[in-house]
Amino acid sequence: MKSIDSYDFSGKRALVRVDFNVPLNEGLKITDTTRIDSTLPTIRKILDGGGSVILMSHLGRPKKNFENKLSLKHIVPYLTQVLGQEVKFADDCMGESAKEMSANLKPGEVLLLENLRYYEEEEGKPRLADDVSEEDKKAAKTAVKEKQKEFTKQLASYADCYVNDAFGTAHRAHASTALVAAYFPNDKMFGYLMNSEVASLNKVLKEGKKPFTAVLGGAKVSGKIQIINHLIDNVDNLIIGGGMMFTFIKAMGGKIGNSLVEEDLLELAKNTMEGANLHGIKLILPVDAIAADGFFNDAKTQVVKANEIPDGWLGLDIGPESVKLFDKILMESKTILWNGPMGVFEMPAFAEGTIQLAQSIAKATEKGAFSLVGGGDSVAAVNKFNLADKISYVSTGGGAMLEFIEGKILPGVAAIEE
Ligand code: AMP
Repeated sequence: MKSIDSYDFSGKRALVRVDFNVPLNEGLKITDTTRIDSTLPTIRKILDGGGSVILMSHLGRPKKNFENKLSLKHIVPYLTQVLGQEVKFADDCMGESAKEMSANLKPGEVLLLENLRYYEEEEGKPRLADDVSEEDKKAAKTAVKEKQKEFTKQLASYADCYVNDAFGTAHRAHASTALVAAYFPNDKMFGYLMNSEVASLNKVLKEGKKPFTAVLGGAKVSGKIQIINHLIDNVDNLIIGGGMMFTFIKAMGGKIGNSLVEEDLLELAKNTMEGANLHGIKLILPVDAIAADGFFNDAKTQVVKANEIPDGWLGLDIGPESVKLFDKILMESKTILWNGPMGVFEMPAFAEGTIQLAQSIAKATEKGAFSLVGGGDSVAAVNKFNLADKISYVSTGGGAMLEFIEGKILPGVAAIEE
């Protein structure tokens, strides 16, 4: 596998898949530039090495071609500002002008291609009306797969080498994230962001020092069950908080009042607890909870045992004894993985458990543990409480990171590693 650090970019045109899928406000201004900022080192490395850069990305989910609000032209001013140089823009990622603009690119120059998802070929999925027959659907799927080959070939024709720095879409087998790599058998590599995401996840999941503690929270067991099953083979401690704890507590015969529960998963939760015991893994549930008399910030609250939520009340955060218990386990851990909030942290009245957990992880990191936090809500929490620089690695890829933890092979990663 080639590495961006040793590759000679001099005089080469690099096709770089980035994740510029950033949030835009009503005025089409970027409201969070993290995804752009985190890929700048890769762009700079290629330019400094004497290469030119052709950037490609998707933005949102266009329902029809060339929807103005999803145009990547809205990214150009910010990119120009942070790179401190002109950024050329091809207003169609296909067509003659993109071909010409990339062919004429000089070393040190940057070209951004228009939204790849304006073309259904990028995802390889036809955009169909709801009333299309099954037969027509099948035919359209085959047709789009055929067109996808031409689309991919044209993207590849723009450049001499391919760099994938879009971890956020690495779990998708799309033209720009996976298929295009086949055109560069000896000239494909990860960008810096992709490299550090994969290395950090491997460091935790494959090379993590023991004791290894995973903390899972969030709303539902159903969204995390594959992760739980995969982690059970790897971790020493599995802490479960958030709304999902109540399915486990009920499965063990506890009283959960009106707390969130997935009745159809009670059996599975029980089996998981028993399976963990068999494997010698400590599956740890909160011992107390903040119960509220309604799902709103100003609701009446009381601290109760986690398995004794009074009728009519619902558990919306973990309690102070659980915070202490989790802190003790985390302080003794050498590797920590955290995904999912401990309570309804969006409401200040139920944010304390998540704040305290984030602080415990930061403290454990200071003491020498390697910590990785990932998933939209946990990353939002870490940023909200200004703890991002106290965590060893904060992952940028929500879905991609979760699939990696589930033990799945990510097509975007495999396409480079193959
Ligand atoms: P997820 O996307 O599955 O990680 O879930 C995140 C969501 O879980 C957040 O919006 C939290 O508000 C919510 N959540 C966490 N704890 C609870 C709880 N005890 N009851 C209901 N929702 C919760």
